[in-house]
Amino acid sequence: MNFIIKNVLIATDDDYTTVDVQVVDGIITAIIKDGQDAGSANQDGRSHTTNGDKLLLPGFFNAHTHSSEMWQRGVIPPFPLELWLAELYDFTPLDPEQVYLTALGTAVETLLSGGTSVVDHLVLIPGKELETIATAVRAYREVGIRAFVAPLIQDESLTAGIPSGDAKRTHEAYFRSTAATLELIEEAVRQFHRPDEGVNILVAPTGIQLCSDALFEGCNELSNRYNLCRHSHLLETKAQEKLALEKYGCTAVEHLQRIGYLSDRTTLAHCVWLTQDDITILAETKSTVVHNPLSNLRLGSGIAPILKYRQAGVNVTFGCDGASSNDSQDLLEAIKIGSILHNATDLDYQHWITPRQAVEMASLGGAKGLNLAEQLGSLTVGKKADMVLYDLTSLSLLPRTDPIGLLVLGRPTNVVDSVWVNGKQVVASGKVTTINVDELRQELFNHSQWTAQRKSPTVAQIEAHYRMVMGL
Ligand SMILES: [Zn+2]
Repeated sequence: MNFIIKNVLIATDDDYTTVDVQVVDGIITAIIKDGQDAGSANQDGRSHTTNGDKLLLPGFFNAHTHSSEMWQRGVIPPFPLELWLAELYDFTPLDPEQVYLTALGTAVETLLSGGTSVVDHLVLIPGKELETIATAVRAYREVGIRAFVAPLIQDESLTAGIPSGDAKRTHEAYFRSTAATLELIEEAVRQFHRPDEGVNILVAPTGIQLCSDALFEGCNELSNRYNLCRHSHLLETKAQEKLALEKYGCTAVEHLQRIGYLSDRTTLAHCVWLTQDDITILAETKSTVVHNPLSNLRLGSGIAPILKYRQAGVNVTFGCDGASSNDSQDLLEAIKIGSILHNATDLDYQHWITPRQAVEMASLGGAKGLNLAEQLGSLTVGKKADMVLYDLTSLSLLPRTDPIGLLVLGRPTNVVDSVWVNGKQVVASGKVTTINVDELRQELFNHSQWTAQRKSPTVAQIEAHYRMVMGL
């Protein structure tokens, strides 16, 4: 666990410098500038010498995804969220072995696109909820990525997530009670929440569209009692904006503030349909927005007003979202689209997100959202060594111009040379060292089949109502 990376490029405020970075017991203990005496740094452990042709950055956060969606990537038709979700649920995996394989896949793709942490808003297999969580935790431990497992919970049935409009509708009761759901999460915390070992459990009601106040309030209580971070989807679609007004008579953000869910350890995925007053509430409560640009485009949800969030002082970071609304887990792609997309929304280029700001959002922004900015998110002496080494001789990062500019604005492929999580190396020479990725590829192939012709019964059931209430 003790090592030194020699002669590596790191970013300074507005340029780059070559340094040696020393890591002891998983902590960055020294960053030694060129020509300075390394002192005790050389005494212990291994050293990784680079030829000044590699860039070291803090690891990024894949701050919102759903790992088991990987089984359905590329197959769901161009649908808005509400219909997409109906199809997703009709074909959701019911075998924990499948959850295991796609958690591995999500971790590997995250690592190889610059991520060292993943927030998995994990879809639970009914009747096997704890087993699902245990399986994902096992996969993340094996790969060695820092894991934030956020079991996805709700206490209302799927049809309740679509606004009623003028129609009189009733919904089936959800199959599990609110109390039983909260007990389940508490048990997951007891069994799996081990922050010191890189495994964290979050409370994560899926969103206002499918959750009662009692569920949110129970989650607040667990969050306070066990010091857990809070996660949720928020106002991803226009339909959810309508639904919030029907359900609460106010915006979803106003309601979440009223019931106490917003805080400096709350991360909220999407945040597409917020008012200016809502944005002020997010800033005041120090909540974090997780921007999932590819998913928002794929599902036609809209463009989240990220530049407005930044101007209001709201912390923003990036997520890939699940692999069937993206349909990949390439964090660098999400960071690129998630930063340049907004140039089209504001003529004032001085508001646009620079590549260096994008890198900070993806690293320190993620750490802040998970209440870990003291420990993670930058190359700082005293912080944990979650770091990614990029190969600047990769064709996609050549010729030599501005490495961070190329990494964010270019189309980097196979650029990750090494990754350390908590000082443990999990990628070396571009290959994951902790699991056999060739075997994983074979298993994913064997456990799936070509499914281009499938049809969703639930979509057939709800599509007419959706079109009516949305005025289509
Ligand atoms: Zn999501």
